[in-house]
Amino acid sequence: MDTPTWSFLPPRKVAYLKFLREQGNTAKAGEIAAHFSVDPSTVTKTVHELAAAGLVDHQRYGRVTLTEEGIAHADFLIWRHRILGLVLSHHGLEGDEACEEAERFECYVSHQAVRKMCSSLGHPRRGICGAIHHEGWCGVERENDVA
Ligand SMILES: [Zn+2]
Ligand SMILES: [Zn+2]
Repeated sequence: MDTPTWSFLPPRKVAYLKFLREQGNTAKAGEIAAHFSVDPSTVTKTVHELAAAGLVDHQRYGRVTLTEEGIAHADFLIWRHRILGLVLSHHGLEGDEACEEAERFECYVSHQAVRKMCSSLGHPRRGICGAIHHEGWCGVERENDVA
């Protein structure tokens, strides 16, 4: 499987895509601004960049919706985040601390490295902050992926 070309997105964009996925793939720009406690103009700028990359549609009334590629991208980001969070949790970090630390460096870890960690953890089904879906990202067999 090829490493997604978008696997090195900067942390703010990673956070927005993960947030949208968790909101059912769509949110208003104002909701994104409120969630991240940032200025709406900052959100607008980033959303326009994500739209230019084909990852979101920016509709009327400030609604932002993940495209199909955006959804696939977000699922990859969530898988990567939760595997790295689990790795940290096995080395003394707990709960939110593991999540927050993972967010600081996750965009710098290669897809190949995360795949190896996922495999060495036995393709866990649950991460610290939610379920982990492996399909497509780490080469796990489909039968093994269905609990
Ligand atoms: Zn987390
Ligand atoms: Zn896996």
